[in-house]
Amino acid sequence: MEAARQIGVELTVASEQASTLETANPAGLLTLDFAQPERAAETVRAFAREHPIQGVVGVDDDTAIVAAAVAERLKLKGNSGPAALAARDKHRQRELLAKVGVPIPRFMLRRLDEDPAAIARTITYPCVLKPLRLSASRGVMRADNAAGFVKAHARLKAIVCEPSAGFLIEEFIPGYEVALEGLVINRRLHVLAIFDKPDPLDGPFFEETIYVTPSQVPAGLQKAIADCAERAVRALGISEGPIHAELRYNENGPWLIELAARPIGGRCSAVLKFGEGGSGKGVTLEEIILRHALGLALPSLQRERLAAGVMMIPIPGAGTLQEVRGVAEAKAVPLIEDVQITAHPGERLVPFPEGSRYPGFIFARGETPSAVEAALRAAYRNLTFILLPPQPPASGVAPTQP
Ligand code: ADP
Repeated sequence: MEAARQIGVELTVASEQASTLETANPAGLLTLDFAQPERAAETVRAFAREHPIQGVVGVDDDTAIVAAAVAERLKLKGNSGPAALAARDKHRQRELLAKVGVPIPRFMLRRLDEDPAAIARTITYPCVLKPLRLSASRGVMRADNAAGFVKAHARLKAIVCEPSAGFLIEEFIPGYEVALEGLVINRRLHVLAIFDKPDPLDGPFFEETIYVTPSQVPAGLQKAIADCAERAVRALGISEGPIHAELRYNENGPWLIELAARPIGGRCSAVLKFGEGGSGKGVTLEEIILRHALGLALPSLQRERLAAGVMMIPIPGAGTLQEVRGVAEAKAVPLIEDVQITAHPGERLVPFPEGSRYPGFIFARGETPSAVEAALRAAYRNLTFILLPPQPPASGVAPTQP
């Protein structure tokens, strides 16, 4: 909304739940059923007869699919429905990438209602179990042996809550992980940033922490990483709009772990600024995405000169958040641009792999990636999360199965 204001375009915000303000602002708010993209697209078409629409943007994994359906129905710039679905469904994505030889882990689709002990005997370790449709690493677990697999399987079953759902078992790819942020314009991938993830992501769960750009990976390898992402974009049929990809690399080169047809998650995008507007003052990623969707002239896709980073603050444990201490001290650390605590007092914090909602974000900008990384870590050390432990089950009531 801020980006729309910046470039002076009128925005209609679609959400799943009707807003009480909808009658007061009929052009600005719209209720859609995101679970039914085709029906949602039809609603938008009817809406657009009175309130013409020139572009559509999805903001996360689910709305990327709705946006694709709307774009197809209204003949706007966007991805096809199948391409958006291929980016969303981890198994479909693996199949399409395997077909054209994009390097991906070996994978196998199984169902949660199959006997885990029987599956466990047939696979090689270490492996990764993952749900087909969740995101933010929720439910993604590494297992090192058959016993670990059976345990992880039970946890995944509880998280997915749909006994006959499919899930993926993948070969665990060791290596260094980077995230690539890009904009696809007319089927061509433009790399906006490659982020290093300096904390090892070896499991058993895959909670993100620090993202820093520019990447310190050697230029040749960055090119190989970008080429790998571009091949994936082509294989999935993504034609327009933002992408966010996770890749690993090791002695065998880059591996595509996942590609999503959406920008980096909400708050984190504040780390990216384009063009030179002075410290952190450039054009935002959202502005670029909106301009692209509307077919407006694009500013420079060159990121600003400074290094920048964000820390997704680790979930401090299970319990109810009481208070966060040290925020002012964390903000006062040199190079720190902002500390945003997004969890509110009284909120229940759920650690990985069941949870995935970070309690906040720290942003830094500076001359070098290592200075930015050090600032993020220093700011984080100032924070103390005060939690009330989770309530034990009421006496006399048998604990429910996990
Ligand atoms: P999500 O969409 O929920 O983020 P991903 O498939 O991207 O799920 O997995 C989340 C993270 O788990 C990845 O960023 C990576 O660190 C780790 N991961 C997933 N699959 C593998 C794999 N096959 N080998 C190694 N690490 C993996």
